[in-house]
Amino acid sequence: MKKHNFYAGPSILPEYTIKNTAEAVLDFAGTGLSVMEVSHRGKEFVAVMEEAQSLFKELLDIPQGYEVLFLGGGASTQFCMVPYNLLKKKAAYLNTGSWASKALKEAKLFGEVVEVASSKDSNYNYIPKGYQVPDDADYLHITTNNTIYGTEIKEDLDVKVPLVADMSSDIFSRPLDVSKYALIYGGAQKNLAPAGVTFVVVKTDILGKTGREIPTILDYRTHVEKGSMFNTPPVLPVFAALQTLKWLKQQGGVAAMQKRNQEKAALLYNEIDRNKLFKATVTNEEDRSLMNICFVMNDDYAELEKEFLDFATGRGMIGIKGHRSVGGFRASTYNALPIESVKALVETMQEFEKKH
Ligand SMILES: *Cc1c(COP(=O)(O)O)cnc(C)c1O
Repeated sequence: MKKHNFYAGPSILPEYTIKNTAEAVLDFAGTGLSVMEVSHRGKEFVAVMEEAQSLFKELLDIPQGYEVLFLGGGASTQFCMVPYNLLKKKAAYLNTGSWASKALKEAKLFGEVVEVASSKDSNYNYIPKGYQVPDDADYLHITTNNTIYGTEIKEDLDVKVPLVADMSSDIFSRPLDVSKYALIYGGAQKNLAPAGVTFVVVKTDILGKTGREIPTILDYRTHVEKGSMFNTPPVLPVFAALQTLKWLKQQGGVAAMQKRNQEKAALLYNEIDRNKLFKATVTNEEDRSLMNICFVMNDDYAELEKEFLDFATGRGMIGIKGHRSVGGFRASTYNALPIESVKALVETMQEFEKKH
């Protein structure tokens, strides 16, 4: 039976990425060696790193003055690296979920933190708006896509202070105006590569302003100077990331991805809104994520939750169980998920409705 992979992360990758990476694990660039057993300073891997950085810039139309880094440590390490490098006195954080609040918690180790707004009061099911950002904040930190709760900030905010964004789960899902951001980061395992590599896009002129001593490995300037080769980068995930970037380009880039993602999400949200058995947890349409679509059983059918999960699993729907802090179901519809998988899920929901 065909499996439809709705996991939230690590999650579905293009077949192109998986095949090319599998080949390179056996024979990398005609070297007769595995990509896992060659020097990261050899010319073959250096070429991979350089191409990944330049394609990253090309696909997101990144202007001059920014660098792309591939680091270890996951997005969670960025929760402390960001304030370590950028927080001089005061930072502003928008609290839209557990990842955002983890980022905020780390920042408190480095200075004053202002929570500009929070949607915690209603289990993070909306994106707060109309909040004030202090003019003297060193930066505003946002999480553009809230993987657990299924909300998303789908446009580039205009703010007077440097903008820092965790884009772990929506990078490359739409075109970005990178010039509006001082720093963008994310774990690659949602929409780009296997776990193990973290991407950072940094405007280099914001660095070195806190007067703080920073351990070498946690200082962005180290990695900018060394082209992400200060220490051994996560070689295999970087190789895989390059394959996904090539695939993205072949598919027509981020504008084409956005169109497809909008189509997939519309299909599923329409069914959730129509089907008497289900309801979406995010009711405000403009806040609904195009990447993680969360829904629960309607109140009258709450007892059918387990039955639907089994029914859907039996039809090849994998990874749709919701996160424990939301319950119900979550279908992640990342770039690599084909529209056929969304159609299959919609049909499954319709068949289940007929049974009840
Ligand atoms: C998954 C996720 C993280 C955590 O990433 P790690 O690489 O596991 O540290 C952080 N932020 C968001 C938005 C995520 O989806």
